[in-house]
Amino acid sequence: MCSLRDCSVCECPAHEFPESFKRPNSQLSSDNLICQEGKPQATVDRTLDSKAFMGWMEIDNPWTYDDETDNSEMTYVNLQLNPERYTGYIGPSSRRIWDSIYKEHCLKDVPGDSSPERRVFYKLISGLHSSITVHIAAEYLLDEGKDLWGPNPVLLYERVLKYPERVRNLYFTFLFVLRAVTKAADYLSQAEYSTGNPLEDQHTQSLMIQLVNNRQLHAACPIPFDEAKLWKGQNVHDLKRQIQLQFRNISALMDCVGCEKCRLWGKLQILGVGTALKILFSVDSDNSVGQPLQLQRNEVIALINLLNRLSESVQTVHALLPIAEKVVKGT
Ligand code: FAD
Repeated sequence: MCSLRDCSVCECPAHEFPESFKRPNSQLSSDNLICQEGKPQATVDRTLDSKAFMGWMEIDNPWTYDDETDNSEMTYVNLQLNPERYTGYIGPSSRRIWDSIYKEHCLKDVPGDSSPERRVFYKLISGLHSSITVHIAAEYLLDEGKDLWGPNPVLLYERVLKYPERVRNLYFTFLFVLRAVTKAADYLSQAEYSTGNPLEDQHTQSLMIQLVNNRQLHAACPIPFDEAKLWKGQNVHDLKRQIQLQFRNISALMDCVGCEKCRLWGKLQILGVGTALKILFSVDSDNSVGQPLQLQRNEVIALINLLNRLSESVQTVHALLPIAEKVVKGT
């Protein structure tokens, strides 16, 4: 369905991905799960020594359609070799997917329904849509014959900048995901990053610690999104279940995206949004009682890549806005 060879994804050959990825994921040893018998004072106080990260696990995410666990049909791709950019995926096929997402699942037009949770849900999807369009405009095929790629400010203006709400929703989605990453800071800084190369593992871990402890960021934006304000009204349990089901449907719908590279980035980013939703809405706020935060390796990959995509989109909007306005106004 795509008109460009650039739409196809290059998969990593088997020798390129780390040995550890080929092994089944490690599970908690059964010793960790044995109940403590005897008096209450005999139980271990886990607040002193417990870690947020307890090994990668296969934990169901109520927000996503999870068929992503390791299986023989999975392949590995190097995302840096498969940039998110213009692919030529246009027309009724891509339109049908977006229409289906908005009409069937976002329930944008439910009469009388203006719950803040539904508005958040809509803004997240619209913000992601803006971000995808921004990446298309930032790396557009300007001349197919010469294989010339570059920014297309007019397209950016016509599809995103002209609509302030789409720009606002892009910022909203960025801040939402940023909040999820900072909320999961302990977990993310303790997680094992296994690249197959010990130096790269260390580098990845220290980059992650830098990201989640970025003082400048915390000072500039202490609470990017306040999740505590949501799920307060009546029937919130039903509402949450409904919205979860809708989001799972969107996640499943990604399999229908007819362009391979768009499907790769679409699935990855929807999984990233699902992970942010899980961190903000499906785990106890202090992560210490009830259901502690547990993420799958793919969820962390998706979350961090999504944050990267969104922050680059925000940067592109800043960089191209003056140029786009000049071009469109003919000055
Ligand atoms: P579309 O972007 O298809 O939008 C359809 C309609 O949705 C618009 O007419 C408008 O009414 C509404 N709309 C648009 N933006 C917003 C917004 N931010 N908020 C709310 N409503 C909005 N193409 C690529 O070239 N590269 C990719 O990597 C890529 N990835 C994709 C991933 C997914 C999951 C999908 C579904 C499509 C992807 N596409 C990609 C296709 C791309 O998103 C567009 O569909 C395509 O470029 C055609 O654009 P369009 O102008 O018809 O409007």
